[in-house]
Amino acid sequence: MQDWQFNNHWHDELPETYSEVMAMPIMRPKLVAYAEQVGSLLDLKQQPAESELCRYFSGASVLQGSAPLAQVYSGHQFGHYVPQLGDGRGLLLGQITNAQQQSWDLHLKGAGLTPYSRSGDGRAVLRSSIREFLASEAMHALGIPTSRALCVLDSETPVQREEMETAATVLRVSESHLRFGHFEYFFHTNRHGILKELADYALRHHFQSCLTAANPYLAMFEQVVIRTATLIAKWQSVGFTHGVMNTDNMSLLGLTFDYGPYGFMDKYEANHIPNHSDHSGRYSYVQQPGIGHWNLQCLAHALSPLVGKEDTDKALGLYELNLMREYSRLMAAKFGLDGIRDGDGPMMTEFFELIQRGRHDHTLSFRLLSEQDVRESRCALENEFIDLEGFRQWWGRYRKRRGEQDDATHGQSLMLASNPKYILRNHLAHTAIEKAKTGDYTEVQQLHSLLTKPFAEQPDMGHYAQLPPKWSDDLEVSCSS
Ligand code: AMP
Ligand code: MG
Ligand code: MG
Repeated sequence: MQDWQFNNHWHDELPETYSEVMAMPIMRPKLVAYAEQVGSLLDLKQQPAESELCRYFSGASVLQGSAPLAQVYSGHQFGHYVPQLGDGRGLLLGQITNAQQQSWDLHLKGAGLTPYSRSGDGRAVLRSSIREFLASEAMHALGIPTSRALCVLDSETPVQREEMETAATVLRVSESHLRFGHFEYFFHTNRHGILKELADYALRHHFQSCLTAANPYLAMFEQVVIRTATLIAKWQSVGFTHGVMNTDNMSLLGLTFDYGPYGFMDKYEANHIPNHSDHSGRYSYVQQPGIGHWNLQCLAHALSPLVGKEDTDKALGLYELNLMREYSRLMAAKFGLDGIRDGDGPMMTEFFELIQRGRHDHTLSFRLLSEQDVRESRCALENEFIDLEGFRQWWGRYRKRRGEQDDATHGQSLMLASNPKYILRNHLAHTAIEKAKTGDYTEVQQLHSLLTKPFAEQPDMGHYAQLPPKWSDDLEVSCSS
C-alpha cells in the first residue's frame, strides 16, 4: 500500500464540493476479512499484514499521498427532498491509479464525524460493515456492477444502536462515488456553475465517449439512463432488493451502491420488502424498476441547467426499453432459451406465479430447474408443488419449448451459468455476523469465499444452498447501521 500512487482528482478538480476531514480512529482494530480480488485491482500482489491494514483503515494513520475528504450531496429520501446530506461517516481517501491505468476511489466507511454527520455518530457497526463487504463481493461475482470492498475491520470502540455494538470500517473501492444526489445538491442550492464543473468532471473521468456528442451532458444522461435500467434488470433477475433506493444512494455509473438493509429473497415474493423500516413498501422488489425511473427524473431535473427538458424526457424514454431488453436477455438465459419468442413471456410469468403461490424459494427453484434434464417427461421439481397439475402442465409446455431448440445441453449449461447455486441469504449473513460478534471471523471469510463462485457446485458446501431454517423467518434488517 506504501507504493500506491494517489492522484486525488476529485480533491484537486472539485474544491467546492467537500470538506477536508481527518478520520477518527477506531480502537484496537482487528481484521475481519480481506478480498484478494479487490487487492489485485489495487496492485496488491499479496494480502498486506494485518497490522498494516489496521493502521491505515482504522483511521490511525494517513496513507502517503491521501487527502481525506467528506463529500457534500443531498437527495430524495423516501420520496422527500432532503436539502443537505453528505458523507456523514465515510471519507474519500483519494484516487489511486493501478498498473492498467484504471483509477479507483478509496472510501473509508465508518471513519468518524464529519460536517455532514447531522445527528449521527459517524460510525458504522460491525454487522452492517460485514453485510456491505459480503454483498459487494457477492454481487460482483454474480456479474452485477457494484462498488467493491477491500477489507472490513472490527474494533473495541463502542457504538450505541438499539443495543451496544462495536464500530467497524469498510474500505470501499469504486470507480467513482458520484451520486445522483451530488447533482441535486448543486442544482437546488442554485450553484449551477459548480453543477457544470461536476458534470464536466464526470464526463472527463467516466463518460469520455460522450465528450464528442453534440450535447455531451445529454449523451451522458442517456448513458446513465441505460446503465441504471440495465442494473435494475440485473437486480430483478437474481431477486436482489436494494432496500433504500434514495437518490443519494444512486450511483451515476450505474453501480449497486450503499448497501444497507438490502436482501436477496428466499421465497419468491414480488412484494418482498427487505427493509423493516420501509413501512409503505416504497422500495419493495417489484417497485425497483419504477423507482429507478423516478430517481432518474430527479437527476434530469437537477441537470436542467445543462440539458433541456425535452431532451431529458426523450432520454428517459430509453429506460423501459433498455430495462426490458436486459431483463428479457437475462430471463431467456435463466430458462435456458437462446432468445425470446412469442409465448415465452406468458410461460415465464406462469412459472413465477407457480412459485409465488406455492411460496417456493426463488434461487433454488431456478437452480433445480437448471439441473433437470428436459428430455424427461417428469420433472423432479414437481413433488415440491402443491399445485401439481398446474406445474405438470407448465412443465409440458416448457419442455416442448426447450425441445424446439437444437441442443438441449446448451440450454442446460446456459442455465447453470445463469442461475446461482449460492446467494447471500439473510440467515447466512446473520450466522456469520453473530459469530463475528464473538471475535470469530471464520464464517465471514468462508461465506466470502463461497460467494465469489456462486455458480460453481463447490463440494462440501451444499448446505449453504439449502432452504433457510425456520428461525430465520423472524430476521429483520432495518435502516439502523
Ligand atoms: P444511508 O441511509 O446509509 O444512505 O445514509 C443517509 C445519510 O445519513 C448519509 O448522508 C450518511 O452519511 C448519513 N449517516 C448514516 N448513518 C450515519 C451515522 N451513524 N453517522 C453520521 N451520518 C450517518
Ligand atoms: Mg447513503
Ligand atoms: Mg448507507
